[in-house]
Amino acid sequence: MRQLLNVLEEYIRKLNFIRLGVNSGMIILNLMIWGLNGTAQNINRALQNDYAMNQGRKILCIPDIPGYETLKGDFHIHTVFSDGHVWPDFRVVEAWTEGLDVIAITDHIEYQSHSMDIPADDLNLGYERAKIKAQNLNILLVTGAEISKIVPPGHLNALFIKDMNKLRSDDPMIQIEEAVKQGAFILWNHPGWGWAKPLPDTTKWWDFQTAILGKGWLHGIEVYNTEEWYQVALNWCIEKDLTVFANSDIHAPINYWYDLSHPYSHRPMTLIFSKNKTLDGVKEALFENRTLAYFDNTLAGKVELLKELFHASIILHTPFRHVERDGVKTFFAELENPTDLTFILNKEGAAKSNDRTDIVKLLPKTITIINYKYDEDVLYYQLMNCYSDINTHPLVQFPTLKK
Ligand SMILES: [Zn+2]
Ligand SMILES: [Zn+2]
Repeated sequence: MRQLLNVLEEYIRKLNFIRLGVNSGMIILNLMIWGLNGTAQNINRALQNDYAMNQGRKILCIPDIPGYETLKGDFHIHTVFSDGHVWPDFRVVEAWTEGLDVIAITDHIEYQSHSMDIPADDLNLGYERAKIKAQNLNILLVTGAEISKIVPPGHLNALFIKDMNKLRSDDPMIQIEEAVKQGAFILWNHPGWGWAKPLPDTTKWWDFQTAILGKGWLHGIEVYNTEEWYQVALNWCIEKDLTVFANSDIHAPINYWYDLSHPYSHRPMTLIFSKNKTLDGVKEALFENRTLAYFDNTLAGKVELLKELFHASIILHTPFRHVERDGVKTFFAELENPTDLTFILNKEGAAKSNDRTDIVKLLPKTITIINYKYDEDVLYYQLMNCYSDINTHPLVQFPTLKK
């Protein structure tokens, strides 16, 4: 067998030698083709070796709304470069696997728990270590850092900054001024969290926040963080025209905190209505206040965006049947939810029964059958798991079809 291989190798060598002698152009062309094949193989091998490919990316079905692409983002994530337990590029893989489009790694400026093992002198390193993976997986990676002072003012994320190292200071006002100078979007994190100074009711608006809002240096608030829902912060966002966020603030591996094996479970995320899937598009959408907070199968934010997302999600089909009793026609129609969102509807208007038949639960990727009377030209529903302020659920309406 070995002899046969030797003969073959010799034959190929001679063949190439003859080719070289006969047509050197040909051999150069061959070398170019071999080179290209080699590159293609390397790319394929790189993909095969990428452990992200073992899992695959979930298609998280949340529809676009007219004029905008709906992107799924988490703008508050920690890594081993502060007090997280995960290497930065793994945060990108987690986000890719879950179907997110954009993340910000926002390690603390003030403390790095692993500084004995991981360099702490350059705050930009966490982002740098995640950048290539983000490019390879088509995840938008936003630069960020968490200004971490005791309450007040508490913690604030500076997003879209250029150099995190310049944000080091004992004075949070100086930190924010520098971030704003770099074009940052300033997000007030977990506003109901007492941190080192527990307070009876910690969801409070502080003088510091008034001061930065007055300077135009406060742009958004987390109405939801990890598993806490700060309802009053939603009202602040609506009153003061600030952008709403729901973020994970994840420190552990993401699936250690959220049960992602359950079909309806998801990490808290911010839905961004962007002109396109680019960092500039995301930045513009955040500054223009086009987001919704999405957490625990609940949505919160501006009423117009909630309604637009609902109507982009749910389809009322032409009735498939009607029955007539005592001269009253009742129609039966399918209400389809092809998305991964959940909507809980409560019937309103004259046809409201005031019992449990008013409630319609639209679970992800399901069809529900509803019925309505001939004289109901429009169906009115309150979206019970959507909030446009603490006490208000948006009211949506469907014109009915009759045949
Ligand atoms: Zn924090
Ligand atoms: Zn944090």
